[in-house]
Amino acid sequence: MQINLISDTVTRPTPAMLEAMMRAEVGDDVFGQDPTVNRLQARAAAMFGKEAALFCPSGTMTNQIAVKVHTRPLDEVVCEEGAHVYRYETGGYAFHSGAAIQPVPGRWGKLTAEQVAAAIKPQHDWLPRTRLVVLENTTNTGGGSYYTLDEVRPIRALCRRHGLRLHLDGARLFNALVETGERTEDWGACFDSISICLSKGLGAPVGSLLIGDADFIAEARRFRKVMGGGWRQAGYLAAAGLYALEHHVDRLREDNARARRIGKVLAGLPWVKEVRPVRTNIIVFDLADHLTADMLLAKLEAHGILAAPFGPQTVRFVLHLDVTEEMVDRTIVVLQGLKM
Ligand SMILES: *Cc1c(COP(=O)(O)O)cnc(C)c1O
Repeated sequence: MQINLISDTVTRPTPAMLEAMMRAEVGDDVFGQDPTVNRLQARAAAMFGKEAALFCPSGTMTNQIAVKVHTRPLDEVVCEEGAHVYRYETGGYAFHSGAAIQPVPGRWGKLTAEQVAAAIKPQHDWLPRTRLVVLENTTNTGGGSYYTLDEVRPIRALCRRHGLRLHLDGARLFNALVETGERTEDWGACFDSISICLSKGLGAPVGSLLIGDADFIAEARRFRKVMGGGWRQAGYLAAAGLYALEHHVDRLREDNARARRIGKVLAGLPWVKEVRPVRTNIIVFDLADHLTADMLLAKLEAHGILAAPFGPQTVRFVLHLDVTEEMVDRTIVVLQGLKM
């Protein structure tokens, strides 16, 4: 049995999802004529109480398009220092948008309104102009922590006061919403734009959604095209996304619960120094001083368990659709049996 905890991107479509893909009615999405893409976009917009949405190949593209539409060259983006948009998108904010970035160290990947306020630059010729704030929910490098609406609303108010745009990198937003019970409409009301990944825990093979006002999405379509993201019969992939939104949201609870189970076990092991609070489907933990991530990963791999290094002495496990209860049991047995 191979157990892949590297990322929630590794999921394969279920037979029922493949069935939905095969039955998809398709057209040419560059002309806006793919009925399944249009249905997915309408559904996503409605979920968040927004006017429009755009189906894109990746979350990197949806984030980068958002930065592009919200900023002009010489503007600055504020985000947490571990944010995907800063760390893992090849510096695209500079490449696509000519924007500067102000990373801010937060707690578990989260920022407070006070921290955002302190990062806003005064207006001088010699400073970039603060223009956009990007929040990530759940936080990836923060170990799957999440914001609640009560934490986001003061940041929303601050952005309004300062004329700043607010974008949500909600790659794993639904992993948080199944815990808090908060409504997508209320999240939609807090942000100018939202990016959602269908290809993570939701289990679609490919695809992300960018959600916002009609004018914003009209501009976003142009930038998707110039980035080479104008795709034709994308309805086959949109069908997977629709299936995921209908069938795979509530079950994220199981992934979160399984992560908590493994997190508890890890916290009791003598060779684990610290487990970051496990709030959703991500577990990030630091190893005792005599161990490296590579040493642990090699031992796990010998037992058929794959995971990712997250630092020289830090390891990440991610739970997802393709990790069953039986695999979790097995992982726990292996962890408890390791001689480190
Ligand atoms: C995965 C991820 C993205 C998008 O990644 P792609 O691989 O480009 O789809 C964006 N933000 C966060 C926090 C992510 O984890």
